[in-house]
Amino acid sequence: MAGGWARDGAVSEQIEASITDELARMQARRAPVGESLTHCAECEEEIPEPRRQAIPGVKLCLDCQQERDGTYKARGGINRRGSKDSQLK
Ligand SMILES: [Zn+2]
Repeated sequence: MAGGWARDGAVSEQIEASITDELARMQARRAPVGESLTHCAECEEEIPEPRRQAIPGVKLCLDCQQERDGTYKARGGINRRGSKDSQLK
């Protein structure tokens, strides 16, 4: 019994350690404004250099930014996901 409790403690310690690690990584990703990410925080697609320079502190690629802003459909035009779908069919 006692051994079981000890193991539980060890496991939750490990989980806490990995959460701390994860938090540190998330905070590293949450770069201060002015520092652009090289890769999208959502899909990890590379953010083009011109976009990074145009938008200081940019964290999302164009697709994810538009989705988050809700402008993806409003912009219309070329829909990469749509063409991906048609390729699958
Ligand atoms: Zn993205």
